[in-house]
Amino acid sequence: MAKIIDGKKISDDIKETVKQEVLALNSKGILVGLAVVIVGDNQASRVYVNSKKKACETLGIHSTEYALKAETSQAELLELVDELNNNPDINGILVQLPLPSHIDEKKIIESISPIKDVDAFHAANVGKIMIGDYDFLPCTPAGCMELIRSTGVNISGKTCVVVGRSNIVGKPMAMLLLHESGTVTICHSRTTNLTEMCKTADILVAAVGKAKIITAEMVKEGAIVIDVGMNRDENGKLCGDVDFDEVSKVAGYITPVPGGVGPMTIATLMKNTVIAAKMQESMK
Ligand code: NDP
Repeated sequence: MAKIIDGKKISDDIKETVKQEVLALNSKGILVGLAVVIVGDNQASRVYVNSKKKACETLGIHSTEYALKAETSQAELLELVDELNNNPDINGILVQLPLPSHIDEKKIIESISPIKDVDAFHAANVGKIMIGDYDFLPCTPAGCMELIRSTGVNISGKTCVVVGRSNIVGKPMAMLLLHESGTVTICHSRTTNLTEMCKTADILVAAVGKAKIITAEMVKEGAIVIDVGMNRDENGKLCGDVDFDEVSKVAGYITPVPGGVGPMTIATLMKNTVIAAKMQESMK
């Protein structure tokens, strides 16, 4: 049976370190602030935003929520981001995605000052990640890397397969594995031999958004399986992209959903907010 990678515990350890860093900054008179912007009433976005705000509260980070109506225009949102870019009390800006369809997400992301872009979605930060010289790491992939490291398995030389090629998870995930000298393959919806590709993986990361798409026959004996997916199964229960019950009989290590990648995403966001505060302080 696979060992379960406890994302909750690992994220708690990261958050404890962040808390100490916030306290150290506070003792020098420096406050840490995160602006959380949510547009519309997407239920999942509301849950994510609440978790992020709660984490801020526990760690001593000041979070300010900007809850905007679904009809908010792109110009109004750009204006708010501009205000936040210029607000010295705000170190990090998080615009919760997805945005309503009349707003161009790319334009909004590009309007966030790169030094306040704690999600690391801005092209300037993506480029830095590409060349391995970054300030912030994207929250979910960075969280996955911590989970992989927690197994003690050295990524160097391992066959890594990432299923999913989104800009926020799949692509940066592949890049981080490559930086650690993994041999990386990215699969997506046009991949014709998904089962065979996945089966080669010593480290398999699933970021698809389809309940239980990764089955036991796709997993190599002893592999590390990281499940990014957040889906609902046929009974409405939260589940990942991996068929946990069956895959855990084959894998060496596996992350649960919930309690795996999710809490790591939030912990990395908190870490990035402190990095942003320190960076901005050093620029004064
Ligand atoms: P996207 O929808 O942006 O990307 C999904 C990717 O999966 C695409 O690249 C798509 O391929 C690929 N894909 C779709 N169907 C298949 C298939 N049948 N076989 C192989 N690949 C396929 O999703 P995200 O990357 O934003 O998110 C992925 C999942 O992770 C979602 O469930 C999301 O909720 C979850 N998530 C969880 C987070 C957490 O903190 N735990 C944070 C962020 C996301 P193509 O490009 O060809 O369309």
